[in-house]
Amino acid sequence: MLAAFVAMANPPSALAQASSATILVYHRFGPTVADSMTVTTAVFTAQLSYLHDHGYTIVPLRDVVSFAAGHGELPLRAVAITADDGHRTVFSDMKPLVEKYRIPVTLFIYPSAISNASYAMTWEQLAALKATGLFSIESHTYWHPNFHIEKRRLAPEAYTKFVGMQLNKSREVLERRLGGHITMLSWPFGIYDDDLIAAARASGYVAAVTIDRRKVRRGDNLMALPRFIVTNGDLGKRFESLLPAQ
Ligand SMILES: [Zn+2]
Repeated sequence: MLAAFVAMANPPSALAQASSATILVYHRFGPTVADSMTVTTAVFTAQLSYLHDHGYTIVPLRDVVSFAAGHGELPLRAVAITADDGHRTVFSDMKPLVEKYRIPVTLFIYPSAISNASYAMTWEQLAALKATGLFSIESHTYWHPNFHIEKRRLAPEAYTKFVGMQLNKSREVLERRLGGHITMLSWPFGIYDDDLIAAARASGYVAAVTIDRRKVRRGDNLMALPRFIVTNGDLGKRFESLLPAQ
């Protein structure tokens, strides 16, 4: 009953009034908390059910990008869901819930790990996720470097070349393996600066996401859109604090 009342209190004309949106980022799932980046499948289920029951709308990440760019409206209480790194539990644990709730999810993938690292998904699994129509796949650079370390390690010219390779090769491999066009980037470890942003723009990316913990507002830098890393403790008031008030 409460949900119905809240829905009526926000008529369609209120659509234009969303003043912020939230982008959440997950990494891995499972029955138990293996590390700080794991959200148990039970907690993820509780979070999706909370969003569903409290009038939040899960929107594609591209809609939040348009909102930040100043064109396109968002419903009130808009939340975008992303998952970084291509962990195998995205396929085994996240996919069934995404299909149950029919929600859009954007995955940021670094191709060097796919069908290679033991923790990562295979190309076949990524293709199967894409085929559901619910998962979009975007770039997380080629091998997830720490750009701070590489900048110290390499001579300026070599560093510029390295950055270009990480940005271009990731997109080229993802497009060749999965089709479509890669236009979004997740900064590895959330590391970005003006030079990296310029390189990403030059490489053809139109938006990029960070792990700066705040909500997205109109006019935000499209190449550094903030996200909240979700942890296993994010339930109740703590989860609610990550979400847009209206
Ligand atoms: Zn990552």
